[in-house]
Amino acid sequence: MVAAPDIIAAPNEPPMPKTFLVSLLLLLLSSFVAAQQYDLVIDGGRVMDPETGLDVVRNVGIRGGKVERISSEALNGRRTIHAAGLVVAPGFIDLHQHAQDLASQRVKAMDGVTTALELEIGAPDVAIFLKTKEGHSLINYGTAASHVAARALVFGAPLPSGEILPKSGPATDQPATAAQIEQIENRLRSELDAGALAVGMGIQYTPGATRLEVIDMFRLAAARQVPVYTHVRSAGSLEPGSAVESISEVIGAAVISGAPLHIVHINSSCLHDSVECLALIAGARARGLDVTTEAYPYIAGMTTVNSALFNPGWQQKLGISYAQLVLPDTGEHLTQQRFDELHNSTRTQGVLVFANTQDIVDAVIPHPLVMIASDGEEGHPRNAGTYSRVLAQYVREKGTITLMDALRKMTLMPAQMLERSTPAGRQKGRLQEGADADIVIFDAATITDRSTFQKPMEPSAGVRWLVVGGSLVVDDGKIVPDVFPGRALTGPGSQSAPTN
Ligand SMILES: [Zn+2]
Repeated sequence: MVAAPDIIAAPNEPPMPKTFLVSLLLLLLSSFVAAQQYDLVIDGGRVMDPETGLDVVRNVGIRGGKVERISSEALNGRRTIHAAGLVVAPGFIDLHQHAQDLASQRVKAMDGVTTALELEIGAPDVAIFLKTKEGHSLINYGTAASHVAARALVFGAPLPSGEILPKSGPATDQPATAAQIEQIENRLRSELDAGALAVGMGIQYTPGATRLEVIDMFRLAAARQVPVYTHVRSAGSLEPGSAVESISEVIGAAVISGAPLHIVHINSSCLHDSVECLALIAGARARGLDVTTEAYPYIAGMTTVNSALFNPGWQQKLGISYAQLVLPDTGEHLTQQRFDELHNSTRTQGVLVFANTQDIVDAVIPHPLVMIASDGEEGHPRNAGTYSRVLAQYVREKGTITLMDALRKMTLMPAQMLERSTPAGRQKGRLQEGADADIVIFDAATITDRSTFQKPMEPSAGVRWLVVGGSLVVDDGKIVPDVFPGRALTGPGSQSAPTN
């Protein structure tokens, strides 16, 4: 006779006690949880989140593009990254990135950036920008609606393809009529409908825009519930037209209109008055106004040499002369003759502008109101090195910012700024359960920028892994080929649902 299998209880056996059943159930449940597989696990890293202050060794489980679990328990993943000794932080958010090509995205990724947005000026055509990048982007992207481009269009001088700044001329230097202002507004409305995150203004590049034109653009932004990101009207200390006057102008427009205001690169707009400009912003905020700012850690700026920034008077404003203008490709210092030739040309040529000092940059970067944003474009080392440079120079070498505060400037603060434009911002810039899995894993002891004015596209060192929407973009210090997990961030006017 064959014995009955053990698992079948003999009919006369007493029923199993309840406590035994409960224990069995718990055992089964816990083994199910342990066996639960994440797409990706980041094991044993120093997990840092500026919003909650979490700074402790934890395991991170990622599934479906989201951070699903942060735990001290071992997690099981299809792929596990061993991050012992490394910092695991929210990916950096760059609110101010002009170069949107793939080569630039690669160096941004190596610098820890998971989202890079063109918000200072904005792409000239939002629909084309979004369409072009869809499915072809390494990191997340988005753009402002460009007042500069809208104005050029209305003045009959549309920007050439691929460019964001006009050559100086009637379209930049003449005041707009009431009818033209209305046309500019209509263009901006349709750009916001196409998915722009904000109104982007480069007032210094459109010096013909009156104070009223500026206020009208702020009113439009307020009506559409988006912020204004702006490069202010002027730089330097010379009155009239100082940086202090320029900051006051946009703070005034924010008060009048109610639009949130983000002032870009306070370092290069305010130069020697940067600390004073930060005090103006602090004063506005103390009165309850929504004003924010950012800076990049370099003594030189960069712009196009035929733009209205170099209209007569620039030497006095910036306190520099021709020799402080340097061509990025060749290192050539300009002379008056060479400057005139390039300024009057219709050909766009980038130029480095050495107008700041290290002392000013060192005072600005650690300031608690200052976010880090690169103003990245090819030809300037800030494109590739901004974030690693802050971590190397200010956190590690000078010790003027704590690591957590540096991360706050690179993640939480820009994410909170993004929240003014889209609820998707709430899922960014945090390393918390439920957040988007945009994560940087780096070695805080060695991270450093390597880009220089001579070699501006040299990638940073120290970012070991980078995760965008749950996908690895940098794997063991190398760019993963042919992955494009970057998604669009779009504003409230977007016709279609945001894809991220
Ligand atoms: Zn600018």
